[in-house]
Amino acid sequence: MSFVNKSASELSAMLASKEISSVEITQAQLDNIDRLNPKINSYLTVTHEIALAQAKEVDELRAKGEKLSALAGVPIAVKDNLTTIGIETTAGSKILKGWIPPYNATVVQKILANRMPILGKTNMDEFAMGSSTENSAYGPSLNPWDLKRTPGGSGGGSSSAVASMQAAIAIGSDTGGSIRFPAAVTGTVGVKPTYGAVSRYGLIALGSSLDQIGPVARNVMDAAMLQDAISGPDAMDATSLPESLGSMTEAAKNDSVKGLKIGIIKELTGEGFQAGVSERFQEALDLLVASGAEIVEVSCPSFQYAIAAYYLIQPAEASSNLARFDSVRFGLRVMPEGAATVEKVMAATREEGFGPEVKRRIILGTYALSSGYYDAYYGSAQKVRTLIQADLAKAFEKANVLVSPTAPTTAFLLGEKQEDPLAMYLNDIATIPANLAGVPGMSLPVGLAKEDNLPVGAQFLAPAREDARLYKVGAVLEKLLENKWSKKMMDFAPELRVN
Ligand code: GLN
Repeated sequence: MSFVNKSASELSAMLASKEISSVEITQAQLDNIDRLNPKINSYLTVTHEIALAQAKEVDELRAKGEKLSALAGVPIAVKDNLTTIGIETTAGSKILKGWIPPYNATVVQKILANRMPILGKTNMDEFAMGSSTENSAYGPSLNPWDLKRTPGGSGGGSSSAVASMQAAIAIGSDTGGSIRFPAAVTGTVGVKPTYGAVSRYGLIALGSSLDQIGPVARNVMDAAMLQDAISGPDAMDATSLPESLGSMTEAAKNDSVKGLKIGIIKELTGEGFQAGVSERFQEALDLLVASGAEIVEVSCPSFQYAIAAYYLIQPAEASSNLARFDSVRFGLRVMPEGAATVEKVMAATREEGFGPEVKRRIILGTYALSSGYYDAYYGSAQKVRTLIQADLAKAFEKANVLVSPTAPTTAFLLGEKQEDPLAMYLNDIATIPANLAGVPGMSLPVGLAKEDNLPVGAQFLAPAREDARLYKVGAVLEKLLENKWSKKMMDFAPELRVN
């Protein structure tokens, strides 16, 4: 079996025992990227030389006996909305084509400090707006389980890369589900940590009060190790939590759910969910119950307004965040015909540089914030946000973790929802509440739906700062499911597999 099928934790052990070198792993990983990326479009930029130079460096340090971090030498993919010195960063937008950032995001800095070679920058919906990567200015990524389908969005580049062995681990960002939804539809593990657990410095902002960076992986332990590597307080982000949340790696070693109270969210089950999704979800719960967990039903009535509230707050914040793309400071500049004033250059650049979804949200957000409508739209949405936080707080009085399917359906077809923004938005029903409340969420693969043989994800939520609970329950469920499914969960499109 090739290195590229190994998990990050396996690679970490093999590196530590000097069974393999980082250069060998990184080269194998790059070879697989060269083979698959032209078919799947997971990466917008592949940084061959940079990755190999970093790998060589870490190998030399190890040879010298230097003390290295757990993930040292394990290559990683980074979503293209994180700034990287010397590496083009576009956030999936034409307006940033060719932009080479002069600074690193804190998360990138931590990756470098951990000595993880950076394989490249992954594809995404433009400015992380979307659920399918179809809004990327550079074409969609494809789902390795079925190339006619979406790998989810906005982080479909990272999810498809990890699912197809083009990286063992990747960085994602989650404003309304962009780590968890892609994880669900590609059979990978995706975690949105507690708001503020990971610094947002250098993350190209979408909705600043919702954005959170997190890990994408093929198993719970890998995600835990990565979360540990990238989280912690940061003076460069005023919203970063002042304290550390403890070791997720330790939490992921948990082997018991005895006495754990799991709350099923009534509003996020049953009607509106694909039968095969509900079936796999229920099976996962049955396994947890058989291992000693207790199921309680909780109700979060305000969730029915979550999508409406999110699609006011997020565009409102985006309209303000995206004002900086003005043709003066970053990327593209388009000269209009005739006499050019600053205003005309700005308008021509934004007209050409932004795609339709970005324009839609800027218009929506600007409207929702305009003086006559501020209270009616933005104000009401903020009130709903408070209700959602209250509903979750009440639910967490009854249960240690909450659970629902991550998404109503398995991966949808490319083109299926692209012409209908509302249909695309509705897809986010289960993931958005966590962002509005700032609580952590994990999507975990729970098997394949019987109608279409495509991956199904279950989502666990925990109270703010209690990310460890997700890793604890995730680790146990993963083991229970492995026994049930064995290899099948990685049975994606045969022509893409590595044997
Ligand atoms: N689908 C959501 C949106 O389009 C998720 C975005 C995200 O998490 N970045 O806004």
